[in-house]
Amino acid sequence: MKRTILCRDCRRPVLWTITEAGKRLAVDPDPDPAGNAAIWRDGTGAVRSRRPSADLPLTGWERLHMPHVATCPAHTEQLALPVGVTSLAEHRRKRRR
Ligand SMILES: [Zn+2]
Repeated sequence: MKRTILCRDCRRPVLWTITEAGKRLAVDPDPDPAGNAAIWRDGTGAVRSRRPSADLPLTGWERLHMPHVATCPAHTEQLALPVGVTSLAEHRRKRRR
């Protein structure tokens, strides 16, 4: 059973993970092959996440999830968006020039 918490910004459920650096990272609860966070559950039941690399690719017990900041509507203005996606904030900045 996944333990999800509602994002306090957009009220969508998110899954909190602990990164290799010991920081908290919220990811979307459903696996997403386009995501860049590999998550798994460690022996204590904590959900851990890391960024797969060429040296340490995704393993059989990990699943890719999208970091919630990439999908959170409340956070999109702070992010570098994928190519082809126009940020409203960026759009406003351009119009101001
Ligand atoms: Zn959110």
